[in-house]
Amino acid sequence: MADDSFDEECDYLFKAVLIGDSAVGKSNLLSRFARDEFRLDSKPTIGVEFAYRNIKVGDKLIKAQIWDTAGQERFRAITSSYYRGALGAMLVYDITRRATFDNLKKWLEELRHFGDSDIVIVVVGNKFDLEQKREVSEEEGRKFAEKELVCFIETSAMENFNVEEAFLQMITQIHKITSQKNL
Ligand code: GDP
Repeated sequence: MADDSFDEECDYLFKAVLIGDSAVGKSNLLSRFARDEFRLDSKPTIGVEFAYRNIKVGDKLIKAQIWDTAGQERFRAITSSYYRGALGAMLVYDITRRATFDNLKKWLEELRHFGDSDIVIVVVGNKFDLEQKREVSEEEGRKFAEKELVCFIETSAMENFNVEEAFLQMITQIHKITSQKNL
């Protein structure tokens, strides 16, 4: 999945991970962000995939390396190596399936167990385009994120709504924390 610009000069390389229940839209969020693509089929491959994208934040060029579980979450087989070195995490649920929202607690627990203590977390309510099937209100999502002291945004990978914003929110926050550490 890596793009050709890997050798381009960048100021920072960040690793971030996508987590959440199966079929919430993680891989489509990633392909939207990295390649501006959307897939209607569920992804068949099992294993870890990642994609890169270069982003300018202020005067710095950041290479974001985003990891996708590529279906492993179905078997609860995500291991500590997936989280190792990650500075950011997108915790994704599907606004049309309450169970995926209820499971956020479990994902957060795992993230806080395996992830770095200052990992940047963004809760993402995906499938915003399916308003008529919504089971979790925006208010509920926001309240959950506020309580857990993490960021929140609703997206649609299908309609490319807020996808760029969600990743940018995470990457900008990581950049802020990293530059404070390097002062
Ligand atoms: P993952 O298992 O979390 O990586 O989920 P996928 O990205 O494979 O998506 C699962 C299914 O949801 C696929 O059929 C996608 O086409 C669909 N999907 C993903 N994002 C959206 C979205 O924003 N809106 C709608 N309507 N469907 C979506």
